[in-house]
Amino acid sequence: MSPHRGDASERTNHKPNGNEAMSDTRTLAIIKPDAFGSGKAGKIIDRLESDGFRILAARVVHLSRAGAEAFYDVHRGKPFFASLVDFMTSGPVLAMPLEREDAVTRLREVIGATDPADADTGTVRALYGEGKERNAIHASDSPDNARVEVAFFFAGVDLA
Ligand code: ATP
Ligand code: MG
Repeated sequence: MSPHRGDASERTNHKPNGNEAMSDTRTLAIIKPDAFGSGKAGKIIDRLESDGFRILAARVVHLSRAGAEAFYDVHRGKPFFASLVDFMTSGPVLAMPLEREDAVTRLREVIGATDPADADTGTVRALYGEGKERNAIHASDSPDNARVEVAFFFAGVDLA
């Protein structure tokens, strides 16, 4: 899908409220229980804001088991699923819709590889991740998933 905004005729294919889901301007970040619980949220937010991300809203949430399972439904059945749900429900997380140009693509770059050992120097996971599971931060992996994931935490919220 082309990332440019397109002309009016293209936009008629989109939802009438100016929904930006088809363009890559918004994504969801979650500071996970390991990083939030050890006081790394401020440093991580600083890193994200330094990279041009604007925080549209923020919520501290202690996910229920059903909530974590629903959020990571794509991984249901995988060997690490139960442990992932244990981890994601072990303490509060900080969920934030973020905005910038190429938001999904750029946030994935800024957070680094899933396993902090493989993450590029200076990425959030290289700096703050403890291991492949306890890797400090989540980021949406596509504009469509970003829309779904922002709605998961911020349904009904009029984002700034
Ligand atoms: P996220 O979706 O949290 O942004 P990701 O897209 O980099 O991470 P996924 O493959 O979607 O990685 O896995 C979701 C999360 O599940 C990982 O971030 C990590 O916390 C955990 N995870 C993934 N693979 C493993 C694994 N092999 N062992 C343990 N935990 C894992
Ligand atoms: Mg993922």
